[in-house]
Amino acid sequence: MATNRRDFLKISGLTLGLSFIDTKSAAAPLLKRFGSNKKQKMTLSFQLYNLKLKHTFTVASNSRTTTPVVLTQIEYDGIVGYGEASMPPYLGETQASVTKFLSKVDLSPFSDPFQLDEILAYIDGIEDKNTAAKAAIDIALHDLTGKILNQPIYKIWGLSKNNTPNTSFTIGIDTPDIIKEKTLEAGNQYKILKVKLGRDNDKEIIETIRSVTDLPLCVDVNQGWTDKKMALDMIYWLKERNIVFVEQPMNKENPEDMAWLTQHSPLPTIADEAVQRLADVKSLHQAYSGINVKLMKCGGMREAHKMIELAHALNMKTMIGCMTETSCAVSAAAQLSPLTDWADLDGNLLITNDLFEGVKIINGKVTLNDRSGIGIRKI
Ligand code: MG
Repeated sequence: MATNRRDFLKISGLTLGLSFIDTKSAAAPLLKRFGSNKKQKMTLSFQLYNLKLKHTFTVASNSRTTTPVVLTQIEYDGIVGYGEASMPPYLGETQASVTKFLSKVDLSPFSDPFQLDEILAYIDGIEDKNTAAKAAIDIALHDLTGKILNQPIYKIWGLSKNNTPNTSFTIGIDTPDIIKEKTLEAGNQYKILKVKLGRDNDKEIIETIRSVTDLPLCVDVNQGWTDKKMALDMIYWLKERNIVFVEQPMNKENPEDMAWLTQHSPLPTIADEAVQRLADVKSLHQAYSGINVKLMKCGGMREAHKMIELAHALNMKTMIGCMTETSCAVSAAAQLSPLTDWADLDGNLLITNDLFEGVKIINGKVTLNDRSGIGIRKI
């Protein structure tokens, strides 16, 4: 389904109404226009959209075939930056909550989109939580500022696209025959695979995958192991089978057991559910070897960048992950990937109705392009 821009809700100052945003003038000479004396304003608009999943997505509590998102645009001086909020149901945000949040946003006091610190501090202060809604603003502002400067964000941050990691691709929980089939298929395209563990058949799943591939694997336990000694035994067993790291092995509310496990573990332990925002990182550095940073958890690219820098300063490993998202939010996350040890950026590959083209996975590697902003174009 193509985007109908007339469906975008436009918010200018405190007014709210249906409108059509003309993006054609984006091709005008950008810096010249930006340098004009005419007072410009930023205009936020957004659209609800449902991502269709290629395969039914199953977690312990439910199965689903769609993921709701909200797509944002911030327009300034004829240039449009795109953003996105993705709301998998287990994270607590919905299209209704994001709509409510975005309807409170008033960008009129800010003179231009380069006031990122001030704008994002204001956004963060509107209401607690709502990190996906906040990310949708943050991503659009980054896309917009990059477009005005006519450079990709990774270049503005001084990063090299040569330093991007391989992305892992997740093999879903399934019957052994289907796991083998999916592993063989993914093994042709990816250099590292990710497997969900934490049920009662962990060894069986690993052995099934190991019967068809020697590729490095990472495992995500999603807090599923309850006993630290059993967890350590399992990690030793996994180490013998070329596992790279173990994500969120135990309950996030149990930092003492996690610290013991990390201290004894022969493999890096990575916090996912246990880490959301910048303020969480410092307290985790004894309990985990690294963190999985996701834009929808932390409120966007600017905070994600700070989290990764802080983690490195604390000698922790870093990983950039995503939710099920279009190429908009995934490409935004990918701008950070040259900074990280690992990437798990397969969210846009799991849907059939992407609205954007952006970051690509080529021979398993996150491959950034030279487009300005977050590197996307509408398709
Ligand atoms: Mg995880």
